[in-house]
Amino acid sequence: MDYQITGRKPEKLFHFFEEISAIPRGSGNEKAISDYLVDFAKKRGLWVHQDDAWNVIIKKAGSQGAEDQEPVMLQGHMDMVCEKNAGVNHDFMTEGLKLKVEDGILTADGTTLGADNGVAVALMLMVLDDENLAHPPVECVFTTEEEVGLNGASALDKSLITARTMINMDSEEEGIGTVSCAGGLRIQFERPIKREEAEGTLLQIEIGGLKGGHSGMDIDKERQNSIRLMARVVWQLMKNTDGKLVEFTGGSKGNAIPRECRVSMIYADPAEAEKAEELAKKLAETLTEEVVPYENSFVCTVEKQDEAKAEAIPAEDAKAFVAAMYLAPNGVQSRNTHMDGFVVSSVNMGVAQTEKDQLVIVFLPRSSVASLQDDMKARMGLLAETFGFTTSYSGEYPGWSYRETSRIREVFKESYRELFGQEMQMEAIHAGLECGLFSDALPGLDAIAVGPTLNHVHTPEENVPLDSFERFYELLKDVLKRLTEI
Ligand SMILES: [Zn+2]
Repeated sequence: MDYQITGRKPEKLFHFFEEISAIPRGSGNEKAISDYLVDFAKKRGLWVHQDDAWNVIIKKAGSQGAEDQEPVMLQGHMDMVCEKNAGVNHDFMTEGLKLKVEDGILTADGTTLGADNGVAVALMLMVLDDENLAHPPVECVFTTEEEVGLNGASALDKSLITARTMINMDSEEEGIGTVSCAGGLRIQFERPIKREEAEGTLLQIEIGGLKGGHSGMDIDKERQNSIRLMARVVWQLMKNTDGKLVEFTGGSKGNAIPRECRVSMIYADPAEAEKAEELAKKLAETLTEEVVPYENSFVCTVEKQDEAKAEAIPAEDAKAFVAAMYLAPNGVQSRNTHMDGFVVSSVNMGVAQTEKDQLVIVFLPRSSVASLQDDMKARMGLLAETFGFTTSYSGEYPGWSYRETSRIREVFKESYRELFGQEMQMEAIHAGLECGLFSDALPGLDAIAVGPTLNHVHTPEENVPLDSFERFYELLKDVLKRLTEI
């Protein structure tokens, strides 16, 4: 192979990265890279296991004198996100990546680089290959389909893992370790309805211009939820005026904070419609005063249309629907006061929809603590029951709770301090990571997620500064050595 990256230390680490980059490995297309890993292990006489999901585990005995130490798991995912710039001719199913190095920055030509999480694969291969490294017994776990729902890690038979210390290498900032992640699930409320003919004046209210964001990573920013705001308005209208709900549509997916919401109500009596318009405008003014200082593009408009006809929602159903949304927990639910107040549990009311024959609300609760996730499920279930909705739960995955004491965290901190003269920062993320599945399956697991700096992952601008990659290997090597001395 004609290597692009030269003069780096250790050169082999970068050459392994180049070798795996030559193998197409988008999510769902992992057989070839998986076979490459099996072959790699066999050539070196290492214990190897490959499963039906193409996950691979490779074990290597501890270095001389460290054979009886506690084993450590190294882990990362072999699949990558496939994105390319418009006009770029690249077939991710059959072609390897075209790597480029400019000013010490490694990128791929017009495509994602797969440093997320190819760096972890190369680092594990380096540890498995190097005969001169000091390390406890290592269990390298290479997973598949991480980018499309943690599928490989979920399917993997974790009883093959004896290690209770885990170093995941899918974190994207050098000098920052991740020590907790959230679990989550999707909860859908449904209630069947029979619409009824109505005519009169139509009142239309729209909310828009909110910032929105990711329902996990951005939930700590206290951004306004358009469905929650609209439920507040409609509840007052239903309480104080005699109109019927026709439409209530907000949000598009469970995992995004909804930015928009649209409602229409119909009034048989023109005087009631007048009164409703006035009240809606007053409420719009109040919301504007509250929200605009924080989200300055926020708008709430009210319009009236005479002589309209509509299929309205029966009053009792409409009341249950709006009350459930008005009372539902939404946003941050609890924080960890010991560690920077990071979000421990949250709920996002992501979608509200009045369909032809049913009412639907979608919630996405998340928590790093399993018992709190169960608590939210119970509360949401009770809310649904109270207002006559059926519930369905789907896509549940476990979180990874913060450990008050963690040996691996301390080892990384000490090593980082001694090597680089700086403090390593620790962070919790409020989104899913593979660590959640491993910590759920392996009681007592002491885990950390780390890695070199990766920029613009999941985009064709994805890159990795080679200095950071080099330094991260120094850190990993030092940590492994320290683990033989404890
Ligand atoms: Zn990743």
